[in-house]
Amino acid sequence: MFAMTSILSAQDKPIIYLSNHTFSSENSIIGTVSLKGSDARIKLKGDNAKRFTLKANKLSIRKKHIKSDTKWYDLTIEAQTGSGKVEETFRLVKDDFHRNRVIAHRGAWKNTGASENSISALQHAVRLGCQGSEFDVHMTLDSVLIVNHDPSFKGKVIHSTTFAELKQLQLSNGENMPGLEEYLKEGIKQNSTKLVLELKPTINKERAIQSARKVYELVRSMKAEAWIDYISFDYNICLELKRLDPYARVAYLNGDKAPDLLAADKLWGLDYNQSVFQKNPEWIEQAKAKGLTINAWTVNDPKLLQWFLDQKIDFITTNEPEMLLKMVGN
Ligand code: MG
Repeated sequence: MFAMTSILSAQDKPIIYLSNHTFSSENSIIGTVSLKGSDARIKLKGDNAKRFTLKANKLSIRKKHIKSDTKWYDLTIEAQTGSGKVEETFRLVKDDFHRNRVIAHRGAWKNTGASENSISALQHAVRLGCQGSEFDVHMTLDSVLIVNHDPSFKGKVIHSTTFAELKQLQLSNGENMPGLEEYLKEGIKQNSTKLVLELKPTINKERAIQSARKVYELVRSMKAEAWIDYISFDYNICLELKRLDPYARVAYLNGDKAPDLLAADKLWGLDYNQSVFQKNPEWIEQAKAKGLTINAWTVNDPKLLQWFLDQKIDFITTNEPEMLLKMVGN
């Protein structure tokens, strides 16, 4: 016998969205709870429900629960719709994230002896106190996400090699190539450094869209939204991530779109090669006027680092996080 009320097709299934996943001692308001696909009555559930309030779909944390020793609370939100109940559990993270603009490019590897995109490069970036640590993601033959910069490694092309086979390969520091799940597990142990996830372009649009969906599903299942800022050179990937979660922070890397185009598509920011800003210096003010975040990569020269600091852009991606941290007074 079928319980008809609980059967919803994947297309009709309502999805609960949260506009923000952090709370801070300065601001007890977290954000808006919204639902795609249906009108519904929304309520808070579970052990942590008492720590929060929900009024007119605005979620807040009760002040007394903003404890300094609690890094996050998991909160379940239930929506009762005409066609059934849906519930989602979100991780609401205390916002102790650094605001120093320093993004370690592929982690902090150059001056630490770690391999690029290794777990230890991420750990070094966290230990240094970077605002963010960037890393690159590809999808294997068997549709598993893995962290590596190039589309191939030691002669193995990632999109045509299985995850099990790639996991056998050692990085230069002796670590194995990390799967994205393993990498994120390490990254979400802390709440001071953001995880800047670059999803790499691939051989065709279908696979690109599939990889975006896989990434989103993994991030959602790990409740890692508070930590993740997405970046990609592939505009289809950017748009798919925004379609999957309208509140996802997604910045575009390829440098060929003016700020007003990105704002029209509700992207979070532009994350362009340093030379793009030298060719189009007016894009900095235009992006600020549109409320877009600005990141420049990969800036390693002290004079150029200072130039970008003077432009008051939001982030600078660098292979020299130690130097840039000193320059910003850390
Ligand atoms: Mg990258």
